[in-house]
This record gives sequence, C-alpha cells and structure tokens, in this order.
Amino acid sequence: MSEQTKSKPLIRLENVSKSYDGGKTYAIQNFNLTINQGDFVALLGPSGCGKSTTLMLLCGLYRPTEGNIYFGDRLVNNVEPKNRNIGMVFQSYALYPHLSVYENIAFPIRQQKGVPKNELDRRVREVAEMVKITELLDRMPGQLSGGQQQRVAMCRALVKNPNILLLDEPMSNLDARLKLEIRDEIKKLQADLGLTSIIVTHDQDEAMAISNKIAVIDDGIVQQYADPNSLYDMPKNLFVASFIGSPPMNFLEGEVEVFGDKVKFKNDQDDISLPLAMVDVDRLTSSKVTLGARPHHFIFYDDQDVPGNTVRVHVEYVEPLGKELLLKCHSGTTPVRILSPLTDREFEGKDIRVGLQRSMINIFDSETGENITIR
Ligand code: ADP
Repeated sequence: MSEQTKSKPLIRLENVSKSYDGGKTYAIQNFNLTINQGDFVALLGPSGCGKSTTLMLLCGLYRPTEGNIYFGDRLVNNVEPKNRNIGMVFQSYALYPHLSVYENIAFPIRQQKGVPKNELDRRVREVAEMVKITELLDRMPGQLSGGQQQRVAMCRALVKNPNILLLDEPMSNLDARLKLEIRDEIKKLQADLGLTSIIVTHDQDEAMAISNKIAVIDDGIVQQYADPNSLYDMPKNLFVASFIGSPPMNFLEGEVEVFGDKVKFKNDQDDISLPLAMVDVDRLTSSKVTLGARPHHFIFYDDQDVPGNTVRVHVEYVEPLGKELLLKCHSGTTPVRILSPLTDREFEGKDIRVGLQRSMINIFDSETGENITIR
C-alpha cells in the first residue's frame, strides 16, 4: 500500500459523546479521534473507561448523544450496522454451535442473499486459507480449541471483505501462550491485508505489541492518542505514564526551585539538579512536581565513586530476571523498581545511590498531572 493511501483519514470521531441516562453521566465524552487508512488502533484503558461504548458507536449498535462519526466523507451517525461494511470479532467468539465451521464462516454471506453458491464457496475457502484453518472447515465449533474458535471468528469477520475490522478483547479468553501466538497472527494478517483495524483491550502489553497507534482512555476521555513509542517516552500525563510500561514508571514526589539555568528537585531524600531547558516552568501551577523514571533509566556507580545528583534507595529484595535484576526498593516510603544489568552485584538489603538518565526522565506538575518536560 502506498504511503499516500495509508495516511488518508478513514474514520473520524468529532466531539463524540455518549450518555446512557439522558445526559446525567457520560460513558465517553468529547472524543476526537482520526484513524487513517491501514492503521491498527488500540483503544486502551481500565474497565469501565468507555472502550466498548466507542466500539459500539463505530459499528453502529449505538448512536452518539452528541458529535459526529465519519467514514471517509460519509456521516454515519444514523447508518445501520449492516450498511457500514465492518467486520467484528468478539471476546466470546459467538460461533453458532449447531453450524459447521464452513457454515459459520459462510453465514454473513448467506444473509446477503443472491450470492451464487460457487462465489460463496470461493470466498469461504479463500479466507480459511488466509487464516490457515482449511482443514477445520468440516468440524463443529465444539470440536475446536479456543485458539481455533478465535481463528474461525476472524474468518467470519473477514469473509465479506470489510473496510474496517473491529476486535473486542479478542484474546482475553485464551491462555498466555496462545494469546501471544494469536496476537502475532492478527498483526500479520492485518498488515498483509492493510485492513484498518481497531482493537479494544485493557492490556497495555497487547496494545503496545499489536497496534501502531493507541488511544489511552480514562473515565470516558481520551488522555493521549499517539504511537506506542511516544506514549512510552513522553506520556502526556500521570495517568498515561502509570498505565503504560511494565514494570511501571517510578514516581518521586518533590518540589522544584529555579536557580539560574538549573531546576532543583528536592524531597526528604534527594536533591537533584536538572537543566532549566528540560522543564516548562511556565506550566507549573505550584512548586510541587512528580519526577517519573522508568525502571531501566537509572545509572549504577561503584560504591566509592558515586557522584552528586543521585537518588538514594534501600533495596528490599532482588528478583533475578535472567539478563538483568529487578531491584525492589524504597526511596523513603515510596516504592521504586529498578532494573540493573549488573547481575552479579550484591544489592539485597543495601542502601545504594543511583543516577538518573536525565534525558529519559519525565517531570509532571503534581496538581494537574500534566507532563511539563521539554525534550
Ligand atoms: P469499557 O468497555 O472500557 O469497560 P464501557 O464502554 O462498557 O467501558 O462503559 C463505560 C461506562 O458506561 C461505564 O461506566 C458503564 O457502566 C457505562 N455503561 C456502558 N453501557 C451501558 C448501558 N447500556 N447503560 C448504562 N450504562 C452503561
């Protein structure tokens, strides 16, 4: 697919809100989202944040209370689901138990009426081949494993050549290993077909692995919409920072003061000097800030050689992860998780001083939660 086709907006949500109780509370509020042709977008957030509501609005089972949804230039607010050319895969595969795999896949085409038998057969076999389940076509759903059922559900969603594929937590009923396998298959299939796809998930690992853009949602509001690396490196606020990344980002509370071309971060434990150019001090609403550092953004020194500008932590215990150690520490009363490549050093029970990779840390205004780091 050419870059030009790829970057064309296919789906636009403009100030879309949905309320179930006549406007008293909103399941989603003021959603703005542009999804380009060929994108694989994840709607990511905790349970109840509004992911399924958004998906239902896209497939046409719900209508927006306010705002507009466009597919290309076409306003689809009131377009029936069957006229939206969307394929859907659900968490509960929703296969018809009394129909064979072949008939389950053929079902959406049979509903179209008037499709010749040989054309129907061609399409069922083509899609089964694509998802590699041709040998299962004669089986009944009850004779399939969870992974196989999910592949059949994929075929059923793809058989009508949809413009858009919607996936609602499609892997949540699968065990951990199969999840990874199906995840790779879906990703490859989506890329091969160049099919604009939207997946709902509460699993940040899954969203990071499978999609090229993620909308992080909390409390019915899109907190940030960006590619996985941007979300990871430059989360827009404390919610996104704490939701993305595993082990999660560490947060140290403190106060800042400007001294010349430096910003001094200070709390009961530490005193860290940062370049003024790194912090957008105009956006500070008070002196209170939260310093965010990912577990692998710490620097280790030899005991006799520790410079200033470090964080003091007590290492409670150590989890060996093979190529690195996960140090479970405290800075004062704040838990801190640090990854260390120094697998043969004794850390457990010790007080250590570690540096920060300053170009990688994030500074948040503690009152607003907004990221005020300048990169
Ligand atoms: P998610 O999929 O992220 O778990 P939902 O979209 O299902 O979130 O729900 C968002 C909010 O809307 C929740 O507070 C939920 O209780 C509410 N909600 C969802 N569906 C309905 C409904 N049919 N009637 C009333 N409230 C609903």
